[in-house]
Amino acid sequence: MSNRIETAENCDSEFESDWISVASAKDHINQSIAPLTDVIKLPLRDCLGQVLAQSIISPIDVPGHTNSAMDGYALKGEDLPQDSVKTLKIIGKAMAGLPFTGQCNTGECIRIMTGAIMPDGADSVVMQEQTELLDETRVKIGTGHRQGQNVRYAGEDIAAGEAIFKVGRRITPADLGVIASFGFAEISVFRKVRVAFFSTGDELRSVGENLSEGQIYDSNRYTLFGMLSQLDVEILDMGVVQDDPDAVRAAFEQASGMADVVITSGGVSVGEADYIKPTLRAMGSINFWKIAMKPGRPLTYGQLGKAHFFGLPGNPVAVMVTFLQFVKPALQRLSGSEQVKSLRLNAVCLDNICKRPGRTEYQRGVYKQLDNGSLAVELTGRQGSGILSSMSEANCLIVLNDDQGGVNSGDNVLIEPLN
Ligand code: AMP
Ligand code: MG
Repeated sequence: MSNRIETAENCDSEFESDWISVASAKDHINQSIAPLTDVIKLPLRDCLGQVLAQSIISPIDVPGHTNSAMDGYALKGEDLPQDSVKTLKIIGKAMAGLPFTGQCNTGECIRIMTGAIMPDGADSVVMQEQTELLDETRVKIGTGHRQGQNVRYAGEDIAAGEAIFKVGRRITPADLGVIASFGFAEISVFRKVRVAFFSTGDELRSVGENLSEGQIYDSNRYTLFGMLSQLDVEILDMGVVQDDPDAVRAAFEQASGMADVVITSGGVSVGEADYIKPTLRAMGSINFWKIAMKPGRPLTYGQLGKAHFFGLPGNPVAVMVTFLQFVKPALQRLSGSEQVKSLRLNAVCLDNICKRPGRTEYQRGVYKQLDNGSLAVELTGRQGSGILSSMSEANCLIVLNDDQGGVNSGDNVLIEPLN
Protein backbone atom coordinates (compact mmCIF):
# COMPACT_ATOMS: atom_id res chain seq x y z
CA MET A 1 0.00 0.00 0.00
CA SER A 2 1.16 3.51 -0.79
CA ASN A 3 2.08 5.57 2.24
CA ARG A 4 1.65 8.77 0.27
CA ILE A 5 -1.59 10.71 0.65
CA GLU A 6 -2.49 13.02 -2.20
CA THR A 7 -3.10 16.62 -1.22
CA ALA A 8 -6.26 18.32 -2.46
CA GLU A 9 -5.91 19.33 -6.08
CA ASN A 10 -4.80 22.87 -6.87
CA CYS A 11 -2.90 24.70 -9.61
CA ASP A 12 0.36 23.16 -8.46
CA SER A 13 -0.89 19.57 -8.21
CA GLU A 14 1.61 16.92 -9.23
CA PHE A 15 0.70 14.40 -11.89
CA GLU A 16 1.00 10.68 -11.42
CA SER A 17 3.31 8.58 -13.55
CA ASP A 18 0.53 6.13 -14.48
CA TRP A 19 -1.51 8.85 -16.15
CA ILE A 20 -1.50 8.79 -19.92
CA SER A 21 -1.66 11.83 -22.16
CA VAL A 22 -4.70 12.84 -24.19
CA ALA A 23 -2.62 12.36 -27.35
CA SER A 24 -1.60 8.79 -26.53
CA ALA A 25 -5.16 7.82 -25.59
CA LYS A 26 -6.35 9.25 -28.91
CA ASP A 27 -3.60 7.39 -30.77
CA HIS A 28 -4.45 4.12 -29.09
CA ILE A 29 -8.16 4.48 -29.92
CA ASN A 30 -7.42 5.50 -33.49
CA GLN A 31 -5.19 2.49 -34.06
CA SER A 32 -7.76 0.10 -32.58
CA ILE A 33 -10.54 1.17 -34.92
CA ALA A 34 -10.98 -0.12 -38.43
CA PRO A 35 -13.63 1.62 -40.54
CA LEU A 36 -16.88 -0.26 -41.21
CA THR A 37 -16.98 -1.87 -44.64
CA ASP A 38 -20.70 -2.71 -45.06
CA VAL A 39 -21.93 -0.91 -48.15
CA ILE A 40 -25.56 -0.10 -48.92
CA LYS A 41 -27.21 1.53 -51.91
CA LEU A 42 -29.62 4.31 -51.01
CA PRO A 43 -31.89 6.77 -52.81
CA LEU A 44 -29.94 10.00 -53.27
CA ARG A 45 -31.77 12.07 -50.63
CA ASP A 46 -31.16 9.47 -47.93
CA CYS A 47 -27.42 9.85 -48.51
CA LEU A 48 -27.21 13.33 -46.99
CA GLY A 49 -24.64 13.21 -44.17
CA GLN A 50 -23.64 9.64 -45.10
CA VAL A 51 -20.17 8.53 -46.13
CA LEU A 52 -19.53 7.70 -49.78
CA ALA A 53 -18.50 4.11 -50.44
CA GLN A 54 -17.94 4.72 -54.15
CA SER A 55 -16.16 7.43 -56.04
CA ILE A 56 -18.39 9.68 -58.09
CA ILE A 57 -17.33 10.19 -61.68
CA SER A 58 -19.28 12.54 -63.88
CA PRO A 59 -20.84 10.66 -66.82
CA ILE A 60 -21.65 13.94 -68.57
CA ASP A 61 -20.51 17.51 -69.03
CA VAL A 62 -22.13 19.91 -66.58
CA PRO A 63 -23.53 22.05 -68.01
CA GLY A 64 -24.31 19.73 -70.86
CA HIS A 65 -24.38 22.45 -73.51
CA THR A 66 -22.90 25.86 -74.07
CA ASN A 67 -25.74 28.16 -72.99
CA SER A 68 -26.72 31.69 -72.14
CA ALA A 69 -26.09 33.07 -68.63
CA MET A 70 -28.59 35.91 -69.14
CA ASP A 71 -31.90 36.83 -70.66
CA GLY A 72 -31.03 38.90 -73.72
CA TYR A 73 -29.86 38.55 -77.32
CA ALA A 74 -27.38 36.03 -78.72
CA LEU A 75 -25.21 37.30 -81.56
CA LYS A 76 -21.83 37.08 -83.26
CA GLY A 77 -19.02 38.80 -81.31
CA GLU A 78 -17.97 40.60 -84.49
CA ASP A 79 -21.37 42.37 -84.51
CA LEU A 80 -20.77 43.97 -81.09
CA PRO A 81 -20.48 47.71 -81.84
CA GLN A 82 -17.06 49.29 -81.14
CA ASP A 83 -17.90 53.00 -81.12
CA SER A 84 -21.52 53.47 -82.12
CA VAL A 85 -24.95 51.94 -81.71
CA LYS A 86 -25.99 49.12 -84.02
CA THR A 87 -29.40 47.73 -84.95
CA LEU A 88 -29.63 43.95 -85.38
CA LYS A 89 -32.39 41.83 -86.91
CA ILE A 90 -34.14 39.43 -84.49
CA ILE A 91 -34.56 36.13 -86.35
CA GLY A 92 -35.95 33.86 -83.64
CA LYS A 93 -36.15 32.79 -80.04
CA ALA A 94 -34.18 30.29 -77.88
CA MET A 95 -35.71 29.13 -74.59
CA ALA A 96 -34.26 26.87 -71.89
CA GLY A 97 -35.19 23.39 -73.11
CA LEU A 98 -36.43 24.74 -76.46
CA PRO A 99 -33.43 25.49 -78.67
CA PHE A 100 -33.35 27.75 -81.73
CA THR A 101 -32.56 25.43 -84.62
CA GLY A 102 -31.42 27.94 -87.24
CA GLN A 103 -28.13 29.76 -87.76
CA CYS A 104 -27.10 33.20 -86.55
CA ASN A 105 -25.53 35.22 -89.35
CA THR A 106 -23.85 38.63 -89.44
CA GLY A 107 -26.28 41.44 -88.61
CA GLU A 108 -28.67 39.02 -86.90
CA CYS A 109 -29.47 38.05 -83.31
CA ILE A 110 -31.71 35.61 -81.46
CA ARG A 111 -33.82 36.46 -78.41
CA ILE A 112 -32.42 34.11 -75.76
CA MET A 113 -33.37 33.11 -72.19
CA THR A 114 -31.04 32.05 -69.39
CA GLY A 115 -30.06 28.39 -69.80
CA ALA A 116 -31.02 28.18 -73.48
CA ILE A 117 -28.49 26.53 -75.79
CA MET A 118 -26.40 29.06 -77.71
CA PRO A 119 -27.60 29.06 -81.35
CA ASP A 120 -25.13 28.01 -84.06
CA GLY A 121 -23.07 30.97 -85.18
CA ALA A 122 -23.65 33.02 -81.99
CA ASP A 123 -20.88 33.33 -79.39
CA SER A 124 -21.92 36.27 -77.18
CA VAL A 125 -25.02 37.44 -75.31
CA VAL A 126 -26.07 41.02 -74.60
CA MET A 127 -28.31 41.44 -71.56
CA GLN A 128 -31.83 42.55 -72.27
CA GLU A 129 -31.42 45.55 -69.92
CA GLN A 130 -28.57 46.84 -72.13
CA THR A 131 -30.64 46.88 -75.34
CA GLU A 132 -33.48 48.87 -76.78
CA LEU A 133 -36.22 46.95 -78.58
CA LEU A 134 -37.40 48.96 -81.61
CA ASP A 135 -40.10 46.55 -82.77
CA GLU A 136 -40.66 42.79 -82.95
CA THR A 137 -37.80 42.24 -85.38
CA ARG A 138 -35.22 44.92 -84.52
CA VAL A 139 -33.10 45.63 -81.43
CA LYS A 140 -30.51 48.37 -80.77
CA ILE A 141 -27.21 47.49 -79.05
CA GLY A 142 -24.64 49.94 -77.64
CA THR A 143 -20.89 49.77 -76.95
CA GLY A 144 -18.77 48.32 -74.13
CA HIS A 145 -19.41 44.63 -74.73
CA ARG A 146 -16.82 41.93 -75.33
CA GLN A 147 -16.87 38.79 -77.41
CA GLY A 148 -17.86 35.65 -75.45
CA GLN A 149 -19.66 37.52 -72.67
CA ASN A 150 -22.58 36.02 -70.73
CA VAL A 151 -21.99 32.52 -72.08
CA ARG A 152 -21.58 29.37 -69.96
CA TYR A 153 -19.52 26.69 -71.66
CA ALA A 154 -20.31 22.98 -71.79
CA GLY A 155 -18.39 21.19 -69.02
CA GLU A 156 -17.14 24.43 -67.41
CA ASP A 157 -18.49 23.33 -64.00
CA ILE A 158 -17.63 19.62 -64.26
CA ALA A 159 -16.23 17.86 -67.33
CA ALA A 160 -17.41 14.38 -68.36
CA GLY A 161 -15.06 11.77 -66.82
CA GLU A 162 -13.97 13.98 -63.94
CA ALA A 163 -13.67 12.14 -60.59
CA ILE A 164 -15.39 14.67 -58.40
CA PHE A 165 -15.85 12.85 -55.05
CA LYS A 166 -13.72 10.15 -53.47
CA VAL A 167 -14.67 7.29 -51.16
CA GLY A 168 -14.86 8.62 -47.58
CA ARG A 169 -16.49 11.92 -48.36
CA ARG A 170 -19.37 12.89 -46.09
CA ILE A 171 -22.14 14.07 -48.37
CA THR A 172 -23.18 17.72 -48.00
CA PRO A 173 -26.28 19.46 -49.40
CA ALA A 174 -24.12 20.86 -52.24
CA ASP A 175 -22.84 17.35 -53.02
CA LEU A 176 -26.42 16.07 -53.27
CA GLY A 177 -27.05 18.74 -55.91
CA VAL A 178 -23.85 17.94 -57.81
CA ILE A 179 -24.68 14.20 -57.84
CA ALA A 180 -28.26 14.97 -58.89
CA SER A 181 -26.86 17.02 -61.80
CA PHE A 182 -25.35 13.75 -63.09
CA GLY A 183 -28.75 12.07 -62.93
CA PHE A 184 -27.80 9.41 -60.34
CA ALA A 185 -30.88 8.25 -58.41
CA GLU A 186 -29.01 5.94 -56.01
CA ILE A 187 -25.47 5.81 -54.70
CA SER A 188 -23.39 3.53 -52.48
CA VAL A 189 -22.62 4.63 -48.94
CA PHE A 190 -21.32 2.89 -45.84
CA ARG A 191 -24.05 1.87 -43.44
CA LYS A 192 -24.46 4.10 -40.42
CA VAL A 193 -22.55 3.34 -37.24
CA ARG A 194 -24.87 1.97 -34.52
CA VAL A 195 -24.31 3.44 -31.09
CA ALA A 196 -25.93 2.11 -27.91
CA PHE A 197 -25.61 4.08 -24.69
CA PHE A 198 -26.81 3.97 -21.14
CA SER A 199 -26.19 5.62 -17.80
CA THR A 200 -25.16 3.77 -14.67
CA GLY A 201 -25.95 4.78 -11.12
CA ASP A 202 -28.44 3.92 -8.36
CA GLU A 203 -29.06 7.63 -7.78
CA LEU A 204 -30.31 8.23 -11.33
CA ARG A 205 -33.92 8.68 -12.36
CA SER A 206 -35.24 9.34 -15.83
CA VAL A 207 -37.13 12.49 -16.72
CA GLY A 208 -40.81 12.25 -15.84
CA GLU A 209 -40.15 10.07 -12.77
CA ASN A 210 -40.37 11.27 -9.16
CA LEU A 211 -37.19 11.86 -7.17
CA SER A 212 -36.62 10.45 -3.68
CA GLU A 213 -34.07 11.81 -1.23
CA GLY A 214 -30.56 11.83 -2.78
CA GLN A 215 -31.69 10.94 -6.28
CA ILE A 216 -30.94 13.06 -9.35
CA TYR A 217 -32.22 13.15 -12.89
CA ASP A 218 -30.09 11.50 -15.54
CA SER A 219 -28.83 14.33 -17.73
CA ASN A 220 -25.93 12.52 -19.41
CA ARG A 221 -28.23 10.51 -21.65
CA TYR A 222 -29.63 13.77 -22.96
CA THR A 223 -26.29 15.44 -23.70
CA LEU A 224 -25.12 12.19 -25.30
CA PHE A 225 -28.30 11.94 -27.33
CA GLY A 226 -27.82 15.54 -28.47
CA MET A 227 -24.20 15.11 -29.47
CA LEU A 228 -24.84 11.77 -31.19
CA SER A 229 -27.78 13.23 -33.09
CA GLN A 230 -25.41 15.68 -34.77
CA LEU A 231 -23.21 12.88 -36.07
CA ASP A 232 -25.38 10.88 -38.48
CA VAL A 233 -25.21 7.68 -36.45
CA GLU A 234 -28.00 5.27 -35.44
CA ILE A 235 -28.84 5.83 -31.79
CA LEU A 236 -30.02 3.18 -29.33
CA ASP A 237 -30.87 4.73 -25.94
CA MET A 238 -30.90 1.96 -23.33
CA GLY A 239 -31.91 4.07 -20.35
CA VAL A 240 -30.53 3.92 -16.82
CA VAL A 241 -28.87 0.76 -15.52
CA GLN A 242 -28.74 0.35 -11.76
CA ASP A 243 -25.49 -0.35 -9.90
CA ASP A 244 -26.21 -4.07 -9.85
CA PRO A 245 -23.84 -6.69 -11.32
CA ASP A 246 -26.53 -8.71 -13.11
CA ALA A 247 -28.18 -5.62 -14.57
CA VAL A 248 -24.83 -4.30 -15.77
CA ARG A 249 -23.85 -7.62 -17.33
CA ALA A 250 -27.22 -7.92 -19.09
CA ALA A 251 -26.96 -4.37 -20.41
CA PHE A 252 -23.40 -4.93 -21.67
CA GLU A 253 -24.49 -8.12 -23.43
CA GLN A 254 -27.52 -6.54 -25.04
CA ALA A 255 -25.67 -3.40 -26.11
CA SER A 256 -22.65 -5.15 -27.57
CA GLY A 257 -24.94 -7.55 -29.44
CA MET A 258 -26.68 -4.82 -31.37
CA ALA A 259 -24.27 -1.91 -31.64
CA ASP A 260 -20.87 -1.11 -33.13
CA VAL A 261 -20.15 1.24 -30.25
CA VAL A 262 -21.29 1.08 -26.62
CA ILE A 263 -21.08 4.22 -24.50
CA THR A 264 -21.75 4.36 -20.78
CA SER A 265 -21.40 7.18 -18.29
CA GLY A 266 -20.57 6.93 -14.62
CA GLY A 267 -19.12 4.19 -12.50
CA VAL A 268 -15.53 4.36 -13.71
CA SER A 269 -14.08 6.55 -10.98
CA VAL A 270 -12.26 5.26 -7.91
CA GLY A 271 -14.48 4.16 -5.05
CA GLU A 272 -17.24 2.95 -7.32
CA ALA A 273 -19.01 -0.30 -6.54
CA ASP A 274 -16.33 -2.53 -8.00
CA TYR A 275 -18.29 -4.94 -10.21
CA ILE A 276 -18.42 -2.67 -13.26
CA LYS A 277 -14.70 -3.09 -13.90
CA PRO A 278 -14.65 -6.85 -13.20
CA THR A 279 -17.69 -7.34 -15.43
CA LEU A 280 -15.99 -5.49 -18.25
CA ARG A 281 -12.73 -7.36 -17.68
CA ALA A 282 -14.57 -10.69 -17.80
CA MET A 283 -16.52 -9.82 -20.93
CA GLY A 284 -13.95 -8.07 -23.11
CA SER A 285 -10.56 -6.46 -23.39
CA ILE A 286 -10.70 -3.18 -21.61
CA ASN A 287 -8.25 -0.43 -20.66
CA PHE A 288 -8.94 1.65 -17.59
CA TRP A 289 -7.05 4.85 -18.13
CA LYS A 290 -6.40 7.80 -15.96
CA ILE A 291 -5.96 10.47 -18.57
CA ALA A 292 -3.91 13.56 -17.83
CA MET A 293 -6.79 15.86 -18.58
CA LYS A 294 -9.33 18.06 -16.86
CA PRO A 295 -12.21 17.50 -16.82
CA GLY A 296 -12.55 13.79 -17.50
CA ARG A 297 -9.69 11.95 -15.87
CA PRO A 298 -11.04 8.39 -15.81
CA LEU A 299 -11.86 6.83 -19.16
CA THR A 300 -12.42 3.25 -20.15
CA TYR A 301 -11.85 2.10 -23.68
CA GLY A 302 -11.78 -1.36 -25.16
CA GLN A 303 -13.62 -4.16 -26.89
CA LEU A 304 -16.89 -5.63 -25.66
CA GLY A 305 -17.68 -8.52 -27.99
CA LYS A 306 -17.49 -7.01 -31.46
CA ALA A 307 -18.29 -3.54 -30.17
CA HIS A 308 -15.98 -0.71 -29.21
CA PHE A 309 -16.63 0.29 -25.63
CA PHE A 310 -16.29 3.77 -24.15
CA GLY A 311 -16.89 4.13 -20.42
CA LEU A 312 -17.11 7.87 -19.86
CA PRO A 313 -16.91 9.51 -16.45
CA GLY A 314 -20.15 10.36 -14.62
CA ASN A 315 -19.74 14.08 -14.18
CA PRO A 316 -21.82 15.85 -16.81
CA VAL A 317 -19.14 18.22 -18.17
CA ALA A 318 -16.57 15.41 -18.23
CA VAL A 319 -19.03 13.33 -20.28
CA MET A 320 -19.32 16.03 -22.91
CA VAL A 321 -15.61 16.83 -23.07
CA THR A 322 -14.49 13.19 -23.26
CA PHE A 323 -17.17 12.49 -25.86
CA LEU A 324 -15.99 15.38 -28.03
CA GLN A 325 -12.29 14.56 -27.64
CA PHE A 326 -12.35 10.75 -27.88
CA VAL A 327 -15.69 9.31 -28.99
CA LYS A 328 -16.52 11.72 -31.78
CA PRO A 329 -13.25 11.18 -33.70
CA ALA A 330 -13.61 7.42 -33.12
CA LEU A 331 -17.14 7.44 -34.57
CA GLN A 332 -15.86 9.44 -37.49
CA ARG A 333 -13.12 6.93 -38.18
CA LEU A 334 -15.50 3.99 -37.80
CA SER A 335 -17.95 5.55 -40.25
CA GLY A 336 -15.36 5.37 -43.03
CA SER A 337 -15.26 9.13 -43.32
CA GLU A 338 -12.12 11.09 -44.01
CA GLN A 339 -10.66 12.26 -40.71
CA VAL A 340 -11.70 15.84 -40.06
CA LYS A 341 -9.80 17.54 -37.25
CA SER A 342 -11.79 19.81 -34.96
CA LEU A 343 -11.32 23.43 -35.87
CA ARG A 344 -8.92 25.21 -33.49
CA LEU A 345 -8.51 28.96 -33.53
CA ASN A 346 -6.29 31.49 -31.79
CA ALA A 347 -7.94 33.94 -29.42
CA VAL A 348 -6.74 36.48 -26.90
CA CYS A 349 -7.70 35.29 -23.43
CA LEU A 350 -9.28 37.99 -21.28
CA ASP A 351 -8.92 36.03 -18.02
CA ASN A 352 -6.12 34.63 -15.92
CA ILE A 353 -6.13 30.83 -15.77
CA CYS A 354 -4.02 28.92 -13.30
CA LYS A 355 -2.54 25.67 -14.58
CA ARG A 356 0.58 23.61 -14.23
CA PRO A 357 2.20 21.82 -17.19
CA GLY A 358 1.53 18.07 -17.35
CA ARG A 359 -2.08 17.72 -18.39
CA THR A 360 -4.51 19.04 -20.98
CA GLU A 361 -7.30 21.25 -19.74
CA TYR A 362 -10.55 22.12 -21.44
CA GLN A 363 -12.02 25.28 -19.94
CA ARG A 364 -15.42 26.48 -20.99
CA GLY A 365 -15.22 29.81 -22.80
CA VAL A 366 -17.24 32.38 -24.65
CA TYR A 367 -15.45 33.78 -27.68
CA LYS A 368 -16.40 36.75 -29.75
CA GLN A 369 -15.00 38.54 -32.74
CA LEU A 370 -13.59 42.02 -32.06
CA ASP A 371 -14.05 45.00 -34.40
CA ASN A 372 -10.57 44.39 -35.86
CA GLY A 373 -11.59 40.82 -36.80
CA SER A 374 -9.47 39.04 -34.17
CA LEU A 375 -10.99 36.74 -31.55
CA ALA A 376 -11.16 37.22 -27.79
CA VAL A 377 -12.29 34.64 -25.27
CA GLU A 378 -13.51 34.79 -21.68
CA LEU A 379 -14.12 31.99 -19.23
CA THR A 380 -17.70 31.15 -18.38
CA GLY A 381 -18.27 31.26 -14.63
CA ARG A 382 -17.49 28.26 -12.48
CA GLN A 383 -15.57 25.50 -14.22
CA GLY A 384 -16.34 22.45 -12.05
CA SER A 385 -16.97 19.22 -13.97
CA GLY A 386 -20.46 19.02 -12.47
CA ILE A 387 -21.43 22.53 -13.66
CA LEU A 388 -23.28 21.51 -16.82
CA SER A 389 -24.69 25.02 -17.29
CA SER A 390 -21.11 26.08 -18.13
CA MET A 391 -21.41 23.99 -21.30
CA SER A 392 -24.69 25.66 -22.20
CA GLU A 393 -23.17 29.07 -21.61
CA ALA A 394 -19.97 28.29 -23.53
CA ASN A 395 -19.55 28.54 -27.28
CA CYS A 396 -16.05 27.07 -27.19
CA LEU A 397 -13.57 25.05 -25.18
CA ILE A 398 -10.33 26.78 -24.31
CA VAL A 399 -7.73 24.08 -24.89
CA LEU A 400 -4.63 24.32 -22.72
CA ASN A 401 -2.15 21.68 -23.85
CA ASP A 402 0.03 19.41 -21.70
CA ASP A 403 3.16 21.48 -21.94
CA GLN A 404 1.41 24.74 -21.21
CA GLY A 405 1.44 26.53 -17.83
CA GLY A 406 -0.91 29.22 -16.58
CA VAL A 407 -2.43 31.88 -18.79
CA ASN A 408 -2.31 35.62 -18.12
CA SER A 409 -4.99 37.93 -19.38
CA GLY A 410 -3.82 39.13 -22.82
CA ASP A 411 -2.09 35.84 -23.71
CA ASN A 412 -3.07 33.93 -26.84
CA VAL A 413 -4.87 30.63 -26.33
CA LEU A 414 -6.30 27.93 -28.57
CA ILE A 415 -10.05 27.59 -28.67
CA GLU A 416 -12.21 24.83 -30.12
CA PRO A 417 -15.63 26.21 -31.13
CA LEU A 418 -18.56 24.04 -30.01
CA ASN A 419 -20.82 23.29 -32.98
P1 AMP B 1 -19.62 8.35 -10.93
O1 AMP B 1 -18.49 8.39 -11.90
O2 AMP B 1 -20.63 7.31 -11.23
O3 AMP B 1 -19.13 8.29 -9.53
O4 AMP B 1 -20.36 9.75 -11.08
C1 AMP B 1 -19.73 10.97 -10.79
C2 AMP B 1 -20.76 12.04 -10.55
O5 AMP B 1 -21.53 12.25 -11.72
C3 AMP B 1 -21.74 11.72 -9.45
O6 AMP B 1 -22.04 12.92 -8.77
C4 AMP B 1 -22.96 11.23 -10.20
O7 AMP B 1 -24.16 11.40 -9.47
C5 AMP B 1 -22.93 12.08 -11.42
N1 AMP B 1 -23.57 11.37 -12.51
C6 AMP B 1 -23.29 10.12 -12.92
N2 AMP B 1 -24.08 9.75 -13.94
C7 AMP B 1 -24.90 10.81 -14.19
C8 AMP B 1 -25.94 11.05 -15.12
N3 AMP B 1 -26.28 10.12 -16.02
N4 AMP B 1 -26.55 12.24 -15.11
C9 AMP B 1 -26.18 13.19 -14.20
N5 AMP B 1 -25.20 13.04 -13.31
C10 AMP B 1 -24.56 11.85 -13.27
MG1 MG C 1 -22.08 6.26 -10.16
